[in-house]
Parts: sequence; structure tokens; C-alpha cells
Amino acid sequence: MSGRQKLVVVGAGMASGRALEHLFAEAPGRYDVTLFGAEPRGNYNRLMLSPVLAGEKSFEDIITHSAAWYASHGVTTHIGEHVTAIDRHRKVVISRSGETPYDTLVVATGSAPFVLPVAGKDLPGVLAFRDFDDVQNMIAVASMPGSRVVVIGGGLLGLEAAAALRLRGMGVTVLHAADHLMNRQLDPVAGAMLQKAFEDRGIEVLCKAQTQAIIGHDRAEAVVLEDGRLCPADIVVMAVGIRPETRLATDAGIHVERGIVVDDQMRTSDPHILALGECVEHDGICYGLVAPLYDMAAVLAKTLADQPAAFRPLPTATQLKVTGISVFSAGDFETRDGQEDIVLRDEEDGIYKRLILRDDRIVGTVLYGETTDGPWFFDLLRDSAATSDMRGTLIFGAAFQGSAPIDPYGGRCSVAG
Ligand SMILES: Cc1cc2nc3c(=O)[nH]c(=O)nc-3n(C[C@H](O)[C@H](O)[C@H](O)COP(=O)(O)OP(=O)(O)OC[C@H]3O[C@@H](n4cnc5c(N)ncnc54)[C@H](O)[C@@H]3O)c2cc1C
Repeated sequence: MSGRQKLVVVGAGMASGRALEHLFAEAPGRYDVTLFGAEPRGNYNRLMLSPVLAGEKSFEDIITHSAAWYASHGVTTHIGEHVTAIDRHRKVVISRSGETPYDTLVVATGSAPFVLPVAGKDLPGVLAFRDFDDVQNMIAVASMPGSRVVVIGGGLLGLEAAAALRLRGMGVTVLHAADHLMNRQLDPVAGAMLQKAFEDRGIEVLCKAQTQAIIGHDRAEAVVLEDGRLCPADIVVMAVGIRPETRLATDAGIHVERGIVVDDQMRTSDPHILALGECVEHDGICYGLVAPLYDMAAVLAKTLADQPAAFRPLPTATQLKVTGISVFSAGDFETRDGQEDIVLRDEEDGIYKRLILRDDRIVGTVLYGETTDGPWFFDLLRDSAATSDMRGTLIFGAAFQGSAPIDPYGGRCSVAG
């Protein structure tokens, strides 16, 4: 018996990996740590599944925490092992190995892909894009000559899957329910430019496309749209959103709304149980990008180390990880009263830059084609910096300002690697 407190972590994903790094730095040796991970492999950079799918990186390239890393920090690992229940009264988690006791429990179970409730959704060949198993399944079909994929969802994930599978030689159709691609991150102009870039790669893009059903005998063979159109497919990839993975917490009677409700210190309604990552809801918001989850990880480690800290959400930026296509978006770009736009548009070179200002401060930015100034604009946005001094040259970026830019590439872009 070490006499140390027992810390059990459920979920070997991006958020828990970062939290353990912080914990070992903040309070080394304080806990005996046991980690459960349902996936049959250690921890990897999930963001980089897209380059792996495209054949630009190998799985080995994206491993973040190997078995050796966990061992070197004295973590007992149960990799490939699902925690099926939490017994809060006896303070144990239940899994294939039996019961594992905890003094403190961390739930970091991430999200599950949202599946459209349409006929045929359970047919073999209907896949998600969430983990390395999904990637392997897609690659297996892509290796068949002449194979076709229909990707449902023209957001970040769907487009990354579509571009990657096209690179692998598949015939690709993207179905997107909204008017333009990446409608949550891009305005219609940038969305249209993006669509053209995808079409130039031989990818068919159908916007305002409502999926009615997936049909096939033994496996998916086509997607039927509400207007009757039929899109043939050997696989259908659903990339229409995520929902927090909360089942363990709900079953254990912990307060769950859309996600597991946590306070600023990442505590759940049970003081012995903390939670972080995509499975949680903080102040009514669930997160689906990694930057806020990393902030949660730092706070959670401090809470575990009995140090003061509070999670405060900050703006985040998004970038599409498709080689040869540059897209950057941050903040608010909906049209509202009192806002001003600064726009630079060069159709010939495929460049579009839009800054949205309110009270002389950047509140949103959409960049297409040339995105190197994205992090600089983003820092101005995050710092709510006044821009009147550089108004005439602002849109041309950091290099056009009189003085050195402030921390131009130190921002919170949510793309790593
Ligand atoms: C293809 C792809 C590309 C992405 N690109 C970007 C990007 O460019 N920028 C960005 O900011 N974000 C991106 N994301 C989102 C980012 O990966 C997630 O925000 C992040 O991984 C969430 O971290 P997490 O630890 O909360 O969950 P996860 O990383 O999903 O980890 C949760 C882990 O818990 C395990 N688990 C669940 N239930 C149990 C259980 N009962 N017992 C044991 N283990 C369990 C799961 O199997 C999983 O391994 C991308 C995601 C994907 C899938």
C-alpha cells in the first residue's frame, strides 16, 4: 500500500492525456493513477486522423501517450477496457477486470458521433469518423478500385474525410443540409469558394441536400435524398455532429444536461467525481474543439493538486486540415446592427479575407486562400484590441503594420500538429 490517494480516470483521450501531463507536473507522486480506455490502443492526437486517412501521416506519427509514457509515470492502464458502471456509494468503477476503487474519479469519455435517425442507418458500410477503427474501415473500402463514398455533412469533419478519401482514389459525393459548406464557420462567399475548390478536385458537392434514407440489401448501396435523387455508395460516412458521451454519469445519478454538468473547477455534482472534455457541459455550453478542453485539463489538474484555478471559456479559431486548401475562421460573422466589414476579395487568386468589427474591435474573421494572418487577427479579437491606428492596413495583416505584431503565432488556434 502506497498510502497515496487513488485516482481513476475513465477515457484515454485527448483531454485526459493533457490533464495527466499537468497533474504529473503539478503534483508528482500524489496519486496512484489507474486509467481505462475503451479503444484498443493508447492515446493519440485525434485531430490528426484526417492526415492519417489521407495517407499523409501514419498512426505511429500521431501517438501522444504510449504505453511506455504511462508506465514511466506509474499509471496502471486498462487499454481496450470499457468502464460499464460507476458505483458512487462504494466508490468503485466496474469493468471487465472487476471493481476498481477510487478516492477521486475523473470522467473523460469524450463524444459519440451523432447518427441521423434515417432508415438504413444501421446497415453495414455506414461509418462514422471518430477513431482509428473508423479510419481503417474507410481505408479498406477505398483500396477497392472504383469505390464510391457518400459523406453526409459538409462541416469540418465531413470535408476532411471527403478530401482524404478522394486522395485515396474514391469517387466522392458530399451532402450538406445547409446552403453552403462549413456554414457554422464560414460566410456564404467563403463557403462557395470552398465548394469550388472541392469540385476542382473532382468531389461532387450537393448543398441543401436532405438525406431521407440509406438503402441497400446486405450493406449500404446508396443514399436517397428527400427530392428523390439517389447517390450510389460503397460506404456512407456520417459526419453530422457529435453528442457528449454521458451514459456512465447519467446511470450513476450525476447531474447531466446535454453534457455532464461541471463547475469552474471541473467538479461534477458528486464532489469525488470530476469531468472534462467533450463529455462535459460548463455554463450551459458543450465544447467540440480541443483548445477549451486543454484549458479544462489545466484547471482539472490544479483542482486535483488542491490549487486554485477556474475554467474561463475563451474564443477559439478553426482551420480546415486539407492540404492545399487554406481556411481560417474565428468569432462572430453573422450580420448584426452596428458592425462594419473590411473585405479583401481576389477572385483570380482565390483569396477572400473578411474582418468583422464592432466598436473598432475585431469580433469575427473569415479567411480563405491566404490564412497566414489568421492567428494575428485572432489575437486581436481575443484581446479585444482597438484597431483604429491600423485601420487602413489592417486587412493586409501583421507585416503591414508599423510596429512588430503582438505575439503573432501564439494564439489558441485549435489545429495542432
Ligand atoms: C477526425 C477528427 C478531426 C478533428 N479535428 C479537429 C480540429 O482540427 N481542431 C479541433 O479543435 N478539434 C478537432 N477534433 C475534435 C477533437 O479531436 C476533440 O475535441 C477531442 O478529441 C476531444 O477530447 P476528449 O478527451 O474529450 O475525447 P476523446 O479524445 O474522444 O477521448 C475520449 C475517450 O474516452 C473513451 N471512452 C468513452 N467511454 C468510455 C468508457 N465507458 N470506458 C473507457 N473509455 C471510454 C473513448 O473511447 C475515447 O477514446 C477532431 C475530431 C475528429 C474525430
